[in-house]
Amino acid sequence: MPERGLVNRIIPFSYVDGPGNRSAIFFQGCDFRCRYCHNPETQNLCIACGACVSVCPVQALSMKDGKVVWDSAVCVGCDACIQTCRNYSSPKVRRMTAEEILEEIGSSLPFIEGITVSGGECTRYHTFIAELFRKAHSLGKTCFVDTNGQTDFRQMPELAAEMNMAMLDVKAFDSDYHRMLTGCGNDVVLQNLSYLAEIGKLYEVRTVIVPGYLDNEDTVRQVSRILAQRPQIRYKLIQYRPWGVRPSMDVEPPTAAYMEKLATLARASGVEKVVCT
Ligand code: SF4
Ligand code: SF4
Repeated sequence: MPERGLVNRIIPFSYVDGPGNRSAIFFQGCDFRCRYCHNPETQNLCIACGACVSVCPVQALSMKDGKVVWDSAVCVGCDACIQTCRNYSSPKVRRMTAEEILEEIGSSLPFIEGITVSGGECTRYHTFIAELFRKAHSLGKTCFVDTNGQTDFRQMPELAAEMNMAMLDVKAFDSDYHRMLTGCGNDVVLQNLSYLAEIGKLYEVRTVIVPGYLDNEDTVRQVSRILAQRPQIRYKLIQYRPWGVRPSMDVEPPTAAYMEKLATLARASGVEKVVCT
């Protein structure tokens, strides 16, 4: 039996998930519970409570043998099911093989530089993804991992060897802030930051800026101190945006001036490539 991964969705063309034009594959499930998560429907596996079935306006959902079944041919993509799910899951998750994923993006392959796996947290499926990457490489495509860093890459040697590069979230440098935001400490994240930089497989570090909630300046200063020794690594500072966040956070997005102040701090700390979005 071929291994399968739980896929929340596939975006055939993306310009924001690594270098160039890429197909992005979002996997289901994550151990973090970030307060600002924009894809909360990727956090948990479906528990088949059935609550979403009755809200579907076109009867694309049904219960069969104690499981929710999604008919993609009928679905109109309104996402009423996702908004209803109190389990932060989705009835549209698919168990796919590597071949099925590559087949689905087949018509995009001539136009993309590579694929990026994201989530949820894609490293939950690290052996499956290593296999997917092997197949994508044989088609001449580059393979990137977008990770929250919750799993030690030294414990996933097959994936570390197979991927071209990783993009790593450092959500907060201070472990207490990290725990407040995500529900977990950041020891492994910081170990991954050092390890991936050391082996030359860190393309980008990302920090979401949330004024009045996180110690943004401390995180930018500390991460920049580490990246200053590695001029090839980009540091992306991302504005907190309230859209899709459930339950909503009682904070304002950062101003452009505050983002520029942090970017200046990163540059002054020695980072050559700083990007604000
Ligand atoms: S997707 Fe959510 S609401 Fe629908 S059956 Fe699964 S857990 Fe229940
Ligand atoms: S997204 Fe699709 S399955 Fe979900 S409620 Fe809308 S039509 Fe139904």
